[in-house]
Amino acid sequence: MDFLTRHIRAPAKVNLILRITGKRIDGYHELQSLMCPIALWDELWLSCGRPGIRIHVKNGNGLVPDNSENLAVRAAEIFYDAAKIQSALDIEMEKNIPVAAGLGGGSSDAAAVLMGLNEIYGFPLSQSLLFSLASGLGADVPFFLMRGAAWAEGIGDQLESFRKIQPLYMVLVNPNAPLSTAAVYKNLKWGLTKEGIKTKKPHFEETLMDPVPWLFNDLESVAASMCQEVVRIREAVLEAGASGVLMSGSGPTVFGLFNDQKAAVEAESFLSVHFKHWRVVATQLMP
Ligand code: ATP
Repeated sequence: MDFLTRHIRAPAKVNLILRITGKRIDGYHELQSLMCPIALWDELWLSCGRPGIRIHVKNGNGLVPDNSENLAVRAAEIFYDAAKIQSALDIEMEKNIPVAAGLGGGSSDAAAVLMGLNEIYGFPLSQSLLFSLASGLGADVPFFLMRGAAWAEGIGDQLESFRKIQPLYMVLVNPNAPLSTAAVYKNLKWGLTKEGIKTKKPHFEETLMDPVPWLFNDLESVAASMCQEVVRIREAVLEAGASGVLMSGSGPTVFGLFNDQKAAVEAESFLSVHFKHWRVVATQLMP
């Protein structure tokens, strides 16, 4: 039997802006967000040939399902279904993105599987069908099909991409305390947020030239009330010399921005000593 194998990198994302602008009758929240992929990724190897779908997860630390609850497996199931191809896939997944961290790891894995399988089988599904399958898997999945920074509206499914981004260096700190996205949204005190108030769509090049004044996350205070570490990390990252600091997505990962790579790497060393048992990573936005 011939096995076709593909190696794919599934990057994490940070939200430089995240505003929750409304709640739909079906429970989904509407948002506006400036989302950027970063140079921190899960590694996936897709091998097609043996009937069925299996997954093996490395570095999941017991937090990542190795069955059909894994979003990557669900993505494969709906791909085979939509393409009317008999399923035949082994997924080898090496997790590097912290889990339940606000970095979109599971969504990125799912998007990588949709794109990877479509390529392996000679593009049986159109881009628009891939996007609609992605939306059904989760609000962040369509963003990862864009393969670049994007402005998101709706429930995260209306996306506008932009390519010209400046190099932007950052340090992420994750306190090894998984935070459920659903729980954070549940605790969002709706009356206290600026319901219905939309931000003016930023001029992307301008935003990325100097993102600090734009940094904003409606979920940060909610997540900080559920995970005390968020405030501690924020203070330490500023002390390490960041020009701006923000929690990503539903948290609890916090990132600080730095003017150059050297400053980010120095801050990474400082923060690694400060937070010995936590995940501290110097990284950068991917174009
Ligand atoms: P988002 O910001 O998109 O909500 P997140 O980074 O906060 O994502 P994930 O790391 O995607 O959260 O994981 C959330 C939950 O999804 C985990 O607790 C885990 O049980 C489940 N999960 C399913 N598939 C995966 C996957 N491939 N990688 C990580 N978690 C997965």
